Amino acid sequence: MPHPFRWQPGEGQRHATTDPRPKGGFPDDTRIATLCGAQITVDNSDVAWLWTTCPECNRGAHELAGTPIVPG
Ligand SMILES: [Zn+2]
Repeated sequence: MPHPFRWQPGEGQRHATTDPRPKGGFPDDTRIATLCGAQITVDNSDVAWLWTTCPECNRGAHELAGTPIVPG
């Protein structure tokens, strides 16, 4: 069973979301809710996937996945 969240870049960081993802992924400019409690606009550009991970979403994702957070 896959983890119930997806990583999705938007607005300068990679966030995680539990919003149900449509087939093929969220289209650009979709508004989604993230684990850190923000609402972001989806950006699927190549450079967007190179953005840094949102620390709040990282923490939330590890809690959902039941895995320890690796420092650094
Ligand atoms: Zn976030």
